[in-house]
Amino acid sequence: MKILVTGGAGFIGSNVSDALVKDGHEVTVLDNLSTGKEGNINPEVKFYNVDLLDIESLELVFREFKPDVVDHHAAQIDVRKSVEDPAFDAETNIIGSINLFELSINYGVKRIIFASTGGALYGEPSNLPASEDTPIEPLSPYGVAKYCVENYLNYFKRIYGIERVILRYANVYGPRQDPLGEAGVVAIFTGKILKGETPVIFGDGTQTRDYIYIEDVVEANVLALNGKEGVYNIGTGKETSVNELIEVFSKILGREIHPEYMSPRKGEVHRISLDGERARRELGFVPKYSLPEGISIVVKENGYRGLKKNN
Ligand code: NAD
Repeated sequence: MKILVTGGAGFIGSNVSDALVKDGHEVTVLDNLSTGKEGNINPEVKFYNVDLLDIESLELVFREFKPDVVDHHAAQIDVRKSVEDPAFDAETNIIGSINLFELSINYGVKRIIFASTGGALYGEPSNLPASEDTPIEPLSPYGVAKYCVENYLNYFKRIYGIERVILRYANVYGPRQDPLGEAGVVAIFTGKILKGETPVIFGDGTQTRDYIYIEDVVEANVLALNGKEGVYNIGTGKETSVNELIEVFSKILGREIHPEYMSPRKGEVHRISLDGERARRELGFVPKYSLPEGISIVVKENGYRGLKKNN
């Protein structure tokens, strides 16, 4: 298949492209390198340094590559930035996506896979884990924009028949993650802790997230290529508090870590986890990595070579 991966220089998009190349697909990456890095891009793919808002250059990519599938990961991913500057967030995440979808229709793309959010979409649900039918009550412009794009995809599907698989990710972590963004906490903690610095927790650390390892998210994208169209939570169903996350690091590193606590920040939900039952049933998606397994890999990738005595 010919697959255009937008955001393929970023954390998730680059890992997804690697897997698609490995599976024998012809992959092209589109990215404006605003947060992505050229070094992340798979050497076997063709790369276009193009902004989603630059329609002419964007059209050139479609004209030259003629993708069968668009796997859309390019986005402004900083939830706090979206609270400070909702218009900027909407421009990249909504207008940029519409540009991409219109060209997809004009150039005969069969299917769009969209990296949406589960972590920032449902607000503070009364029942956890949240299923896809949980009311959509985002607490940030980032979540509003992602839902808006989902609706555009549904509209394009209704009118033009283009297939769409919407993947609502939990908090993704793993190698190549930048310590910014929606789920940067694992990357931030890893950096700080391995440097011997004190990690900072905003709030009292009882806030929970559903952490999913990057390889599991990559697998969800692979399944989404041919799987049943629809909207899917991609999470583990498990809630982990930030205090528990610190404990996981403590266990892996074999020493007590004492975080510093600061006041909570706006736009962030207190508790969330995602019910992945639909993805299991319809896509055959089952996450394989436990949090300690995933964090151990991240810690190793960051150059940590064993417990304290070897440090
Ligand atoms: P990332 O910042 O590493 O990747 C985003 C990529 O998009 C970057 O390479 C960036 O340079 C590119 N980009 C940004 N604006 C662009 C523009 N206008 N034109 C072209 N390229 C542009 O972030 P990520 O964590 O890999 O996120 C990938 C996708 O997954 C995003 O859509 C994000 O909203 C979504 N998502 C991520 C998480 C998570 O936990 N990381 C959770 C839910 C959803």
